Amino acid sequence: MRNDLPPRRTGAVRTRLLSVTGVVLVGAVIGSLLLWHAQLGEMFGLAADKEPVVSSVSAPAVGAPVAETTLATPTPTRSPSNPSRTPTTTKPPKKKTVKTTPSREESIDGLSPKLKARLTKAIAAAKADGVTIRITSGRRSAAKQQRLLNEAIKKYGSYKVATRWVLPPKYSAHVLGKAVDIGPTAAMTWLNQNGWRYGVCRRYDNEPWHFEALTAPGTKCPPREPHAVAKAD
Ligand SMILES: [Zn+2]
Repeated sequence: MRNDLPPRRTGAVRTRLLSVTGVVLVGAVIGSLLLWHAQLGEMFGLAADKEPVVSSVSAPAVGAPVAETTLATPTPTRSPSNPSRTPTTTKPPKKKTVKTTPSREESIDGLSPKLKARLTKAIAAAKADGVTIRITSGRRSAAKQQRLLNEAIKKYGSYKVATRWVLPPKYSAHVLGKAVDIGPTAAMTWLNQNGWRYGVCRRYDNEPWHFEALTAPGTKCPPREPHAVAKAD
């Protein structure tokens, strides 16, 4: 009896240990798989977050669908969807949202009368020089501005740095219709060089696409600011 019991116990303990380590191992494998999956998801989530910020805040998406710019719209149907695979089921609703929502923001329509008038002249002059100025973002709603700021905070990691790129709605010239973002690069260069003739100036060093009516037409633009600054908050 004495001799029998201990080995049995150790045997039982061993099997128990084995099954426990087995469970732990399986758990660890499943856990790491889940973690990996979550990280992947996060990566994709982040990538998705970055996109709107990049497209509207930093270099304007050059290939972005030109919804209804007041300029000659080159190819309105050149939208991202592949012409080869445009199922009739998804296209109509997409077309509608592209035409209604961004069209106002991507046109001079919502801009203040002053900026609108000046920009109209500049756009015509640029066109005569063979340069097409596209409005990537003009007037924005406060909600949109807030959304952009939230995205920028995620992207840059702090409110302070984010506001160098996206001001809070109450400080944003875009919300007042007093600022416009343009593209592509050739248009930015042209307007940076010639905008003063029309009283339209690039304002910030870090945003070559952002212009405001900062001077009287025909007079020199004020010195550029390094970046936007949110007064307090
Ligand atoms: Zn801007």
